[in-house]
Amino acid sequence: DPRLKGISEAIRVVPNFPKPGIMFQDITALVSNHKVFKDTVDLFVDRYRDMGISVVAGVEARGFIFAPSIALGIGAKFIPLRKPGKLPGEVISEAYELEYGNDCLEMHVGAVEQGDRALVIDDLVATGGTLSAAISLLERVGAEVIECACVIGLPEVEGRRRLDGKPLYILVGPR
Ligand code: IMP
Repeated sequence: DPRLKGISEAIRVVPNFPKPGIMFQDITALVSNHKVFKDTVDLFVDRYRDMGISVVAGVEARGFIFAPSIALGIGAKFIPLRKPGKLPGEVISEAYELEYGNDCLEMHVGAVEQGDRALVIDDLVATGGTLSAAISLLERVGAEVIECACVIGLPEVEGRRRLDGKPLYILVGPR
C-alpha cells in the first residue's frame, strides 16, 4: 500500500531517549500531519470494519492516540487499558515484565463483556509483553481477542505474526 511509505517517513527517531542507547520511535510528528494520521487510521479502519469487532482496547498512553478514532470508524466501543491507580472504578490488573523492571495494566470491571470481540491497539510493539498483558485482561473477562495491531513493530517481533496465539498486525518497521 503506497500510504505505508508516508507513514514510515513521518516517524521521528530520537536517539538516547528516554535512556542512553535507545532509539525512540516518536509518533508525534506522524499525528501532527493530517494526511498521514488519517492514512494510518484509515488503514486500520479498512482492515477491521467487517470483522465484527465490538470493542477496541487502547493501551496507555500512546495507544490512546489511535484507538478511539479506530473505534469510531468501525462502530465499536473504546475502552482504556491503564497504568495502575488511574481508573476510578473496580479494576482487574495484569502485571508484566519490561526490559528493566515490571509494569501493570488495569481494566475496569464491566467495561468488556463475555462474548465481546476485541481489537487491542498500541503505537509500538517491541517484546510483546505489553500486548500479552492486554490479551490476558480481555480473556479473563470472557472477551475474544481477534487481533492486536500496532503502527510500528521493532525487530524483536519481526516475523512473529502471532502473539500468545493471537494474530499480530503491524503497519511498518522502525525508522
Ligand atoms: P513491549 O512490551 O516490549 O512490546 O514494549 C511496547 C511498549 O513500550 C508500548 O506500550 C510502547 O508504547 C512502548 N515503547 C517502547 N519503545 C518505544 C518507542 O521507541 N517508541 C514508542 N513507544 C515505545
